Amino acid sequence: MLKKSVAAILLAFVAPTLFAAQVQSEGTGVGKHGNVRVVVTFNDGKISAIDVKENHENPILAEKVFTTLKDNIIQSNSVKLDTFSGATISSQGLLKAVQNAAQNAKIKLADAGLKKISEDSVIPAEQTFDVVVIGAGGAGFSAAIEAKMKGANVVILEKMPSVGGNSLISGGEINIPQSWVQEKLGIKGDNPARHIADTLKGGDYMGDPEMVTTMITHAKETGEWLRGVMKVQYDQNYVFQFGGHSIKRALTPVGQTGVEPIKKFSAKAKELGIPVLLNMNATELIKDDSGRVIGVKAVSNGKTYTFNGKGVILATGGFGANKKMVEKYRPDLKGYMTTDAPGTLGEALAMAEKAGAQLVNMNYIQTYPNCDPISGSLQLFVDARFDGGLLINQEGKRFVEELERRDVISNAIVNQPGGYAYVLWNDKINNLNNPPFIKIHESEYDVATKNGVMITANTLKEAADFYKIDAKQLQATIDRVNEMAARGVDEDFHHRAGLVAMKEGKWYMAKTVPAIHHTMGGIKTNTKAEVLDANGDPIPGLYAAGECTGTIHGTNRLGANAWLDITVFRRIAGKNAANLK
Ligand code: ADP
Repeated sequence: MLKKSVAAILLAFVAPTLFAAQVQSEGTGVGKHGNVRVVVTFNDGKISAIDVKENHENPILAEKVFTTLKDNIIQSNSVKLDTFSGATISSQGLLKAVQNAAQNAKIKLADAGLKKISEDSVIPAEQTFDVVVIGAGGAGFSAAIEAKMKGANVVILEKMPSVGGNSLISGGEINIPQSWVQEKLGIKGDNPARHIADTLKGGDYMGDPEMVTTMITHAKETGEWLRGVMKVQYDQNYVFQFGGHSIKRALTPVGQTGVEPIKKFSAKAKELGIPVLLNMNATELIKDDSGRVIGVKAVSNGKTYTFNGKGVILATGGFGANKKMVEKYRPDLKGYMTTDAPGTLGEALAMAEKAGAQLVNMNYIQTYPNCDPISGSLQLFVDARFDGGLLINQEGKRFVEELERRDVISNAIVNQPGGYAYVLWNDKINNLNNPPFIKIHESEYDVATKNGVMITANTLKEAADFYKIDAKQLQATIDRVNEMAARGVDEDFHHRAGLVAMKEGKWYMAKTVPAIHHTMGGIKTNTKAEVLDANGDPIPGLYAAGECTGTIHGTNRLGANAWLDITVFRRIAGKNAANLK
C-alpha cells in the first residue's frame, strides 16, 4: 500500500515534467536535389526521434543518410558527424535540417567534435567463394545474379558506401530492337542488323564488329530477362530515340533514371542471398603459379581481406571522374567537369593491367552534351531534346542537328560563343513525355531553376531576355523551325526525326554544357567476356563486363547502348565464371 502511493506520487511528479520536456521542432536543410525537411523530437533537451518529412535525394545513394547517419545523430545528440562519401551533400542536407530544428527550438546540441559514423559489421579476413565480382553497378549486379542463378556461390565487393556506380545516375534506358514496346507502338523497320549498323557508324567503325554483333543479337532476350526475371518496369507507351540512332528503340525505365533497374537488381541480389560488401576496395588480383586468377585482395577501413574464387569478374566501371587519368589520355579535355559517380576513378584498370590484362582505346573518352553548367551532372530534364527540343546558342541561333551523336554535339557546343548552349522547348514537347519532362525530373528542374540555369517563361521574349539573348533573332529562329516543320524538312541541319513546330504554351530554356561522361576504352575482352593479355590470349579465371571493358563502342558510345553492353556481357561473364571448375 505504501509502495503504491510512493509510485503514484513519483508518476504525478515525473509525468508532467516529461510532458513539458518533450518538444517537437521543424527544420530544413538543402540536399543535392532540393530541401530536406525534418521534424525532430527532443526529450529533456536531447534528440529522441527524427521524422524525415520531405527529401528528394537519390533513394539508393542517400539510403544510409536516412538510416545510419540519422541513427548516429540521435545516438550522439550531435550534428558534428562525418558525411557519407558519395552522398556528401545529402548528408549535409540532413545535418543542417536537424541543426535548424534545434535552433528553432532554442536547443543546444552536443558539441562533441567531428565523429566517424559508426557502422558495425564483422567480415572474416579470408573467405572462399566460387565467383568474386568486383563492382556493384549494373554490370556487377547482373553478372553476380547470373552466376548465382547458375548455382555458384557469389560475393560482390563495392568500394563505395553505396551501390549503383554510374549505372544508378544514368537515365537507365536500354536499346532493344524489335522490343514489345516498339511492337505495341507500331514502330516498324527496326532489327538487329540496323542497330549494329548504327552502333558501328556511331563509333566511327572503331568498335569491334564481333563484340557489337554479340551485344546486339542478345538484346531481345536480355530485354525479356530484365522485364520478366528482374521485374524492371519499363514505360509501355514510349521509346526514346537517342542521338546517332536511326529509329526510336530505347526502352525507358519508370522514373527515367537508373534507380529503377538498380533497385530491382539490389532486391534480387538480396533475395538470392548474394552478399554485397560495401566500403570494400579491391586492390589486387591473386594469381597461382600457372597464371590463373584465383582471388582478390581488398581493403576496408585499413584492414586487408582475401576473397578466394574459381573466377573473378571485373565490373568496376570507367575512369571519367579521374581528372588526371582523363588528362593523361586526352589533354584536350583538361578542365571539363564530369557527370560521373565519385567512384569512377579507374584504379581497377591498373589492377587488371598488373595482372597482365591488355588495355585498349583509352583515349576514346566521351563528353555528354547536356550537363549542368554548375555541377556537371547530367541534365535529364532536358531530354526534351529527343522529342524536338532545340539547341540554341547565345546569338539565338541553331547550330547543330539536335539528334547528332554526343561527341558531335559536345564539340559544336564548345565552339559556340562562351562555350555553352541552351536547350529550348515548349509545353507541346514537354507533354510528349508522360509524366512531362520537367515533372519526371522535377527535383533536378527545381535546383536548376533556383540556380538561374533554367527559365520557365510565358513568352519566348521573356526566355530570351532572361539569358540576354536577342529576342528578335530567337523569334526568327523559331519562325524558321515552324515553317520548315510545316513543310516536313530541315534544310538547315537535317533533323533525322523531323522538326516539331513550337507555337504556344509555356517555354522552357536551360543553359547547358558538355561534361565527361563515358570512357569507351579499357580492358580488352572477347565475346566470352574473358580478359585478354598482351598476346590476345585469355587470362584464365578472369572476366570483365561493362564500362571497364574497351572494345565495343569505338570512338563514341551511342545513347542507351551502355545498359545493353552491361546486361548482355554480364550474362556471358556470369555464366562462364560460374561454370569454372
Ligand atoms: P558499369 O556500368 O560497368 O556497371 P558502374 O560505374 O555502374 O559501371 O559500376 C562500377 C562500380 O564498381 C562502382 O560502383 C564503383 O564504385 C565500383 N568499383 C570501382 N573500382 C572498384 C574497386 N577497386 N573495388 C570495388 N569496387 C569498385
